[in-house]
Amino acid sequence: MSENKTITVTSPLLPDLQEFEKLLEDIWQRKWLTNNGHYHMELETALAKYLGVEYLSLFTNGTLPLITALQALRITGEVITTPYSFVATTHSIWWNGLRPVFVDVEEETGNIDPEKIEAAITPHTTAIMPVHVYGTPCNMKRIQEIADIYGLKVIYDAAHAFGVKINGESVLNAGDMSTLSFHATKVYNTVEGGALVCHDAATKKRIDYLKNFGFAGETTVVAPGINSKMDEIRAAYGLLNLKQVDAAIAKRKIVAERYRVALKDVPGIRMMYDIDGVRHNYAYFPIFVDETQYGISRDALYEKLKEQNIFGRRYFYPLISTFSAYKGLESANPANLPVATRMANEVICLPMYAGLKNDDVERVITCIRK
Ligand SMILES: *Cc1c(COP(=O)(O)O)cnc(C)c1O
Repeated sequence: MSENKTITVTSPLLPDLQEFEKLLEDIWQRKWLTNNGHYHMELETALAKYLGVEYLSLFTNGTLPLITALQALRITGEVITTPYSFVATTHSIWWNGLRPVFVDVEEETGNIDPEKIEAAITPHTTAIMPVHVYGTPCNMKRIQEIADIYGLKVIYDAAHAFGVKINGESVLNAGDMSTLSFHATKVYNTVEGGALVCHDAATKKRIDYLKNFGFAGETTVVAPGINSKMDEIRAAYGLLNLKQVDAAIAKRKIVAERYRVALKDVPGIRMMYDIDGVRHNYAYFPIFVDETQYGISRDALYEKLKEQNIFGRRYFYPLISTFSAYKGLESANPANLPVATRMANEVICLPMYAGLKNDDVERVITCIRK
């Protein structure tokens, strides 16, 4: 019977229910549910400290910080980005009435290829929006060099990169701004939630106006802002989850190491490895299936896993550039995106979460090894 138990690709990190109930009782006493409440302020401070950043604003999800970052930096015209991501990255550009320009990715990381950025720059380009895919840091030094030469802003979609550091330095300190998602499926969650990281107090103030309708005072509205405030209930939940996120990442690491050892000698299965000096968060465990070497296609393996009640996810397939809103763009032509196209056709993200049982990891491995 246990043979057929469903193994999902992810499972949310949940705080202790009794501890959460205590905080809920306190929120009921305070009768202050949103708009910079007690737990909101506490979580903002605690997250900035944990992540190693100076200025962080909480949001109600991880898409609105992307949309707001483009607003706060007054981005116009064209934004260079990657097709190998979750749709929200490109949607945020579209929601600002801007034109996304897709650039191909690097095979080793899945991140935007800095060497292909310059060819995509036009007189209308004003920003670059890279993604730290699977939490692997982008080549931030090279991206900044290009941005500096052409006078472009850089907004990192760091939705996957919670807690990721290079030689002790947070990746969130790169570029002009970075965004985070605290969605239920992420390494760290507040059910739904997110944050926008910037590097100075004046900019944080502007961001905080923008996420609260543009209110700068009781009767002063300084911009056509949006509503993206995080409420007290999720902030309290988030404080509890923050206490256990390091332990969760440590457990994810053990799962990743087991997969790597067990799948290393399987012909046609490519994996990603840890990079020296990087504190990884093991947000995802992607494998890439080379049909000719492995014997069956990615989709055939995906279905085979499903037959065993093992649910991987083809993350990121299809590419964002193939969706109806974007496929007509010149840069969306698959001939412009050969590496991203191949990766999208070969990828499966294997089950990966802190509570994943050893037996379940072994079942996934056995199925892939045949
Ligand atoms: C999850 C995710 C988002 C959006 O976050 P939500 O909190 O779901 O709105 C944005 N970008 C990437 C790369 C993501 O994975």
